[in-house]
Amino acid sequence: MKKVIFKNFIVILMLALLLSGSIFSIVISNILSKNTRQNMLNILHIIDQTINYEADLKAQIEELSIIYESNKVRITIMDIKGNVLADSDISEHTSMDNHIDREEIEEALREGNGWSRRKSDTLKISMLYVSYMSVQGDYILRIAMPFSGLMDYILILLPAILLSLGVTLIISMILANRFSRSITKPLYEISEELLKLQENNPEFSFRPYEYYELNLIADTTKRMADAVKESMKKIEFEKMIRQEFFTNASHELKTPITSIKGYIELLENGMATDDNMKKEFMSRIKKEAQNMDSLINDILMISRLETKEAEVTITEVRICPLINELIASLKPLAAENQVTVEMSCKPIALSANYGQMRELFNNLITNAIKYNKPNGKVKINVTIEGRDAIFIVEDTGVGIPEESKQRVFERFYRVDKGRSKKMGGTGLGLSIVKHIVNYYNGSIELDSKVGRGSKFTVRIPIS
Ligand code: ADP
Repeated sequence: MKKVIFKNFIVILMLALLLSGSIFSIVISNILSKNTRQNMLNILHIIDQTINYEADLKAQIEELSIIYESNKVRITIMDIKGNVLADSDISEHTSMDNHIDREEIEEALREGNGWSRRKSDTLKISMLYVSYMSVQGDYILRIAMPFSGLMDYILILLPAILLSLGVTLIISMILANRFSRSITKPLYEISEELLKLQENNPEFSFRPYEYYELNLIADTTKRMADAVKESMKKIEFEKMIRQEFFTNASHELKTPITSIKGYIELLENGMATDDNMKKEFMSRIKKEAQNMDSLINDILMISRLETKEAEVTITEVRICPLINELIASLKPLAAENQVTVEMSCKPIALSANYGQMRELFNNLITNAIKYNKPNGKVKINVTIEGRDAIFIVEDTGVGIPEESKQRVFERFYRVDKGRSKKMGGTGLGLSIVKHIVNYYNGSIELDSKVGRGSKFTVRIPIS
């Protein structure tokens, strides 16, 4: 890249020099030719004024030519038919043809004066011819002198041209080098910094560069790296959570399995001496199996919600009949805990998955019954507020301490582990509730006072 920049820089410079040089020489050449022509015309004016056309023209011209000899100037006098009357170039004038068809003569006859530039047949060098119609009589005067335009000066100018060319070339090489370095050096630095990406916790430091575009690259790189770092952190965090969940789930499953194994061993070893004891062991085994069953169901539910299962069947779910049906099925649990359940329900139909809605209400209502007190109450209220459906499940139960309010939505978190286990809780219910609420872009709020009761308020937008 450095080489390409360098090469292009020099090529552009050379082209610019060539172009400006050509324009300059054309302009100067024109000025030079115009000035010389004017000078020659002035000489012709003077000759016309000083010459006596009645006297011997040849003698006068010869006299004049002495003055101009050193300049190789040739003066010719013709009549208006182009016949040469006198010529300072004595050697030739006798054999001189008629000049009427010469360009400068034709022009002089037309316009009073004329000029032309051509190679002289006799001298074989480039000559400038200027002719002039005499104001004294019917004569044409012509003056000719060698003229090569700028070429006459090229030898004088050559050292200056070469010197300036050399100096410009050296300066432009230094500048091109500096310019290409000012681009490539930051790029090297940026790529060097980028190597840090291989490190665990890369910290990029870019110095401010001369060019906006390079700063932009540095800036974008930094932001990209930050984004990568952020998502790496997120991935790490999710990995940790998953690992934790896995460990917790295995642990939770191990407990009922260990109990079941224990009861079976007791039965095998004949520890159950009578039928009642046998029945007791059997029913404990059944209870543990049920616990395992609900735990596995909850784990499956969570993993389905987390993977945001694509195939979630959405229907119009009528909330009141769903809750009524749930209350009916939870009647034995309510009775067992001596809790009464009340409901006030505004008819609402939500576009949702029936299973998920059932799970949501089932967890909230079951908790309200389970963590209640004898003669306690559960109040369920379904209303509409603006464009949101509001579900409130309120109980007069044990309440949740302030420090646990946030944590009850975590997986496997239980305020009172013993009570939860006794009630067949998995520690996953509220975490599932939160997942479902999030799935429908809703929110959940918890109000609770220890010993007084808890109030869960769910808000879901009606789409
Ligand atoms: P669990 O299966 O243990 O009930 P949840 O995730 O449903 O798990 O609830 C987490 C914990 O929050 C429970 O163990 C319980 O301690 C507490 N909790 C949940 N709901 C209530 C409630 N209505 N009143 C008092 N405590 C509750």
